[in-house]
Amino acid sequence: MIKFDLAITNARIHTMRAPGEMAAAVGIVGGRIARVGSDVEIQEGIASSTRVIDAGGRVGLPGFIDAHAHFAIMGVRETQLNLRGAASKADVLRAVAARAAAIGAGEWVIGTDWDESKWEGERSYLTREELDRAAPKNPVALRRIDGHLWSVNSAALERVSIEPGTIGSEEAETGVLKEHAGDELAKVLQPDVDGYVAGIRAATARAHSLGVTSVHDAYVDGTRIKAYRKLSASGGLDVRVTMLPGVEYLDDVIDLGLGQGFGDERLRLGPVKILTDGSIGSMTAAVTDGYRGAPERIGTLTWEPEELAAAVTKAHESDVQLAIHAIGDRAIGLVLDVLERADAAVRKELRHRIEHFEMPTPEQIVRAARLGVVASMQPNFVGEWGLPGGMYEDRLGRDRTAEMNPFARLLAAGIPLAFGSDCMPFGPLYGVHWAVNAPFPGQRITPEKALRAYTRGGAYAAHEEDEKGTIAPGMLADLVILDGDPFREPDGIKDMGVMVTIFNGKVVHQRGNLSAS
Ligand SMILES: [Zn+2]
Repeated sequence: MIKFDLAITNARIHTMRAPGEMAAAVGIVGGRIARVGSDVEIQEGIASSTRVIDAGGRVGLPGFIDAHAHFAIMGVRETQLNLRGAASKADVLRAVAARAAAIGAGEWVIGTDWDESKWEGERSYLTREELDRAAPKNPVALRRIDGHLWSVNSAALERVSIEPGTIGSEEAETGVLKEHAGDELAKVLQPDVDGYVAGIRAATARAHSLGVTSVHDAYVDGTRIKAYRKLSASGGLDVRVTMLPGVEYLDDVIDLGLGQGFGDERLRLGPVKILTDGSIGSMTAAVTDGYRGAPERIGTLTWEPEELAAAVTKAHESDVQLAIHAIGDRAIGLVLDVLERADAAVRKELRHRIEHFEMPTPEQIVRAARLGVVASMQPNFVGEWGLPGGMYEDRLGRDRTAEMNPFARLLAAGIPLAFGSDCMPFGPLYGVHWAVNAPFPGQRITPEKALRAYTRGGAYAAHEEDEKGTIAPGMLADLVILDGDPFREPDGIKDMGVMVTIFNGKVVHQRGNLSAS
């Protein structure tokens, strides 16, 4: 009888293989699940060297797969100074001084998310002189919460060349950079490979604490790929990453023969990402009927149909999977037109994805199902913006909001669903909560279905369902134990947390006292 390295016992494990399939215990050898069964069955493989986790009757699930995250970028933000909670201008300046003291002279202090409207006392923008005093030896750049305004000090101004007359540079002398001047600064602040390596490490720690063991990085460029490869080569990549290169690399991917699945269990090349419209918040998502209060505005399609069709055909000829961002119904219509013309139905095995897929019409749902399209969606958006009185209603009205993100209708039509967060915010249980507790009936799905979309759904969307996303012998040993039961208390899912995360057969996160259930 094989002896386990790690075993979970006394758990309510939902395997996600078939609805309702459960087990009490799992035995792990190396990085793989060796056995799934009852406590008695697993007991046979427990030796003195086996680490045993008594789950205290808690829920166990496959590790979560976030199928749409900007993981490396999120991580870089994690390494920056988050000023969202600052109570006053003095508070911000203290944080800047502390960060400057903690790093070397000459290194950037980059801060994010300050919001003077929330401060006590003086609510003026930070000035160059104030930041010079707080950090005399470091360049400082602090981005306002809306992303459109930066406060900088003298050392920062010296490092960015802004042509006279640049839009947004009018107040540069006082340390305020806006619009194009701010963009110039942002270019200088672009992380290099090591900056992203640090970011990916920070993002991985956050992922483990939230039970995420795999991510699809939804838009990588050369610098981010190099950073992932550097970490992977050093054995330090402790999350499985599927990288989605931008469409500007489509020819390179094809020419080099780097199709779907190139890589290994930790780092793989995934589908090529194509953007076709914008977002609802900025009223750039391409809609058929205009935005509320601005009927002339119908968003922007970023592709000519002919060009998009050529890209899809090229991808088909080379067996390249695509992940196409389409939010508004007009963008979704364009994508479906093009996929139909390119005969995507006969290339169903490529599993082309539509990212976001927020406003499909009933007719489009039927067409997408026929094409075998995977819907890669973000249920957290429902909680963030899709509730009655929320931003979607403001932009599109109640009737259209009620038809958006129709998870239940998509599943009923047979469309595979993969859930992700888009990092707004990162964290699967929050998303699962809003799929289960969504305000409109076409959206609401059971905890089982929502959890499946956040596990097996992501695996399917990356052609990896034989490796992960379910709990079965032979699968990668990525699992989580929760502190609550989404099946029994579905209205409290967003307040639940992850007690244990196991990645590749190793405990990478543990909090609280497990045995006390
Ligand atoms: Zn995204």
